[in-house]
Amino acid sequence: MHYTGTIWRPPYEAYSALIQVTAGCTHHSCKFCTLYEDLPFKFKMSPLKEVEGDLEEMSGMYKNAERVFFTGANPFVLSFDKLKTLAGMVRKYYPKVKSIGCFGRITDVTNKTVDELRELHKLGYDDITFGVETGYDEALAFMNKGYDSSEIIRQSKKMDEAGMGYHFFYLTGIAGKDKGHENAVKTAEVINQLHPKIIDASMLTIYPNSELYQEIQKGNWEEEGEIEKLKELRTLIEHLERGEYFATDGASNMIQVRGNLPGDKDRMLKNLDRQIENANESYLRKYRENLPHL
Ligand code: SF4
Repeated sequence: MHYTGTIWRPPYEAYSALIQVTAGCTHHSCKFCTLYEDLPFKFKMSPLKEVEGDLEEMSGMYKNAERVFFTGANPFVLSFDKLKTLAGMVRKYYPKVKSIGCFGRITDVTNKTVDELRELHKLGYDDITFGVETGYDEALAFMNKGYDSSEIIRQSKKMDEAGMGYHFFYLTGIAGKDKGHENAVKTAEVINQLHPKIIDASMLTIYPNSELYQEIQKGNWEEEGEIEKLKELRTLIEHLERGEYFATDGASNMIQVRGNLPGDKDRMLKNLDRQIENANESYLRKYRENLPHL
């Protein structure tokens, strides 16, 4: 198998067959991100021969995989034709596969028409995970995400129209000190217009090799406190209206909250209220400082 650098996948892709079709990120410019820093290049597509070899090997080891997940920060950036070719290869080695997923940037949808998305969905692509992080324009701009909230809405609506499922990653703390409430409210306003199946929230953890760390040293940005992050999470859940599955998975969250919205909202809010009431800022801070990596 060919795997280059650290391989990242969403928690809910634990049973998917992981196939590398790209490595790195075409954007590679978000100030907080250090995910692909261990690669000697920004982005690469794997040669098709290599992908085919990996599919053959994987299908020998993991015969009954129901889902294939393409690794890399945004394989969804690949053209319609390339994604079509890759789907054909997946079918050759996994004729019974139910779906194909990957990470994508919201801007990866821009170069695809609704008809193309519909066709890709027919070929198996579904439940694409977009790391939108926030719907709050001020934070999107400062962190250099490369799109604004209107772009999130426009491109996600194309996904909805094409019938292709998608998930969102939310990054609690991305707006900085005293902005958690606004960040959550603005993001809920955006998400409430869309239909992500899963909203998975992580918490911002800043590493010294990030551009954001330099911004903090220069006095241009201040990090939210840990209790403020929990309150932000509460505000987000409170304002979300859709019936999606919401979860705080992953090590960056020291407190786990999960459930369907709106059905489980009260239970989730009560749980968070209890946690906030008993929270100790310095204990939570220590937890974050001891996180070796996400
Ligand atoms: S957060 Fe995602 S889009 Fe931004 S640089 Fe990191 S991998 Fe790329």
